Amino acid sequence: MEAEFQTPQPSARHQAEATTNENGLAFGFAMPLSSRRYGRNIIRILLVEDNPDLSRRLAEGLEGAGFVVEHAADGKSGYRLGRMEEFDAAILDLGLPDMPGVELLRSWRQAAREMPVLVLSARGSWAEKVEGLNAGADDYITKPSHIQEIVARLRALIRRSAGNPSSTLVHDTIELSPASGTVTVAGKPIELTAQEFRILNYFMHRRGHVISQSQLLDHLYSLGTERDPNTIEVYVARLRRKLGRDVIKTMRGLGYRFG
Ligand code: CA
Repeated sequence: MEAEFQTPQPSARHQAEATTNENGLAFGFAMPLSSRRYGRNIIRILLVEDNPDLSRRLAEGLEGAGFVVEHAADGKSGYRLGRMEEFDAAILDLGLPDMPGVELLRSWRQAAREMPVLVLSARGSWAEKVEGLNAGADDYITKPSHIQEIVARLRALIRRSAGNPSSTLVHDTIELSPASGTVTVAGKPIELTAQEFRILNYFMHRRGHVISQSQLLDHLYSLGTERDPNTIEVYVARLRRKLGRDVIKTMRGLGYRFG
């Protein structure tokens, strides 16, 4: 049984003081531990980074912020994963074994993979920055960077790509704040579990689109973890109970549509 959203069990890493590792990246969460600042989010991120220690710490930080993270440790597998799977955004290191990040990014864009890409590199020369942006990067961050800045920039990129520049997602009387992890209906707070929140957030980012069950599963669970399609029906039923029957429509044989 998952914990109610209002009473999360913060792990040790959420309580850690911000520290800087040898790669110059600062980790840890200075924000209060209140559940409302927990930042539950459905967002699925592809992390392409070859440094094992940096990757692990980045993945931990991103997961702590509520993202589902898939990791690729070299250019070619990063390219394949980004080509085959659906992601809301990618973090891309430019210096990668077997395929430079800029080439990888150009190949994604040529293959019409349009997810927002945040380029992350220690080499912060203006020429490389320009090359990355020309290859199709949406934003650029140079190490050392704080994990909270990375998370904030990712959220901004994802909001922009969803065509929603405001930090709150709104549909009729439903308002969802990804940053604070809160949902209100007609101004009244609604209690959602973490998984219900993830699904609603995903639905609201893709309002009006048909979303398949497997897309929902991809946004709930990392690859390799056990997924039970029946859980989606349970979550959707609970969301309908809390938000109103008609807000999520079942599209026979296709999936669901929000709004
Ligand atoms: Ca590297």
